[in-house]
Amino acid sequence: MDFERIPHAAPVPGETRQQAIADPGFGKIFTDHMVEVDYDEAKGGWHTARLRAREPIALDPAASVLHYAQEIFEGMKAYRHPDGSLALFRPEQNARRFNASADRMAMPHVPEEVFIDSIRQLLSVDADWMPPIEGGSLYLRPFMFASEAFLGVRPAKQYKFMVIASPVGGYFKAGAKALKIWVSRNYVRAAPGGTGAAKTGGNYASSLVPQMEGADQGCDQVIFLDAVEKKWIEELGGMNVFFVFDDGSVITPPLTGTILPGITRDSLIQLMREEGLQVREEPYNIDQWRIDATKGNLVETMACGTAAVVTPIGTVVGPDGEFRIGAGGMGQLTAKLREKLVGIQNGTVEDRHGWVMKL
Ligand code: PMP
Repeated sequence: MDFERIPHAAPVPGETRQQAIADPGFGKIFTDHMVEVDYDEAKGGWHTARLRAREPIALDPAASVLHYAQEIFEGMKAYRHPDGSLALFRPEQNARRFNASADRMAMPHVPEEVFIDSIRQLLSVDADWMPPIEGGSLYLRPFMFASEAFLGVRPAKQYKFMVIASPVGGYFKAGAKALKIWVSRNYVRAAPGGTGAAKTGGNYASSLVPQMEGADQGCDQVIFLDAVEKKWIEELGGMNVFFVFDDGSVITPPLTGTILPGITRDSLIQLMREEGLQVREEPYNIDQWRIDATKGNLVETMACGTAAVVTPIGTVVGPDGEFRIGAGGMGQLTAKLREKLVGIQNGTVEDRHGWVMKL
């Protein structure tokens, strides 16, 4: 697809940008440009692609996304390698997951090459927004929503696909902080047959109340249980989870349609199997977690995702009280995997899997 490149009339001055990216936080500041691609069934599908100044967009008040939440998104990062080049991590996986989400939400596919070219276009003008700090990256947010003005409940006939970018800092400040996790009993994230495996806004909207409930208990994140038996551990609000045992085996919940198939999850499974660890994708029960952690044969639990990479879970606040994982801090395997994955992403560890796409 040809992109119309419309120059920004007044990009943020270099000095202001430098200040903003010195300590960017997460998702608070945005680069100068955005990509906008329009879809109209009546015009044969995707028809107009623009790279232009990031600014508010006009939306009809009847746009169906505002009423029935037909929308999906992705979360990925661009990294600066030591040779100065920019790199993406397994972006084709994000493109595929995006289209799997589109299928579930009755939306059109964005061709993989349009998805990746959109990111290239945006980075070709906004690479200077890469934070010059350790652990810094450009977080990329591709998303699509139903823009058609229509109040009937059916799949829309018009959509927008957009990409914005946000400079972000490392998740870890001085020393990796282990998470304190709240086990949600009153709320579930996804039910069998629902939208749990899709990256769609409603899943995140429904996680806010349990997240607030957890925050009231002094917890950083929420872990969700299955909707049917309310005992099988599924995932966190925005991360997948791994349980590490003292015999070198590892368990992660299986992809049965209620959890998001994380790209970090998939990468870690591969890295661990190459290290000779036995990784099993099988259900793990909340009571067993407490028993195993208390007995000491469960030695680490890690949460993983694009934003947090690999983060230890140190303390769990469950229905039967609080328990600690290992010594409550960063475990050995968690630290090793984090270092390896971050190294591959940043270009300091050899990429033997062909995961890195240089731009
Ligand atoms: N689960 C959920 C619900 C998420 O939002 C994310 C973040 N995309 C993940 C898991 C981790 O996925 P990934 O490793 O692809 O970032």
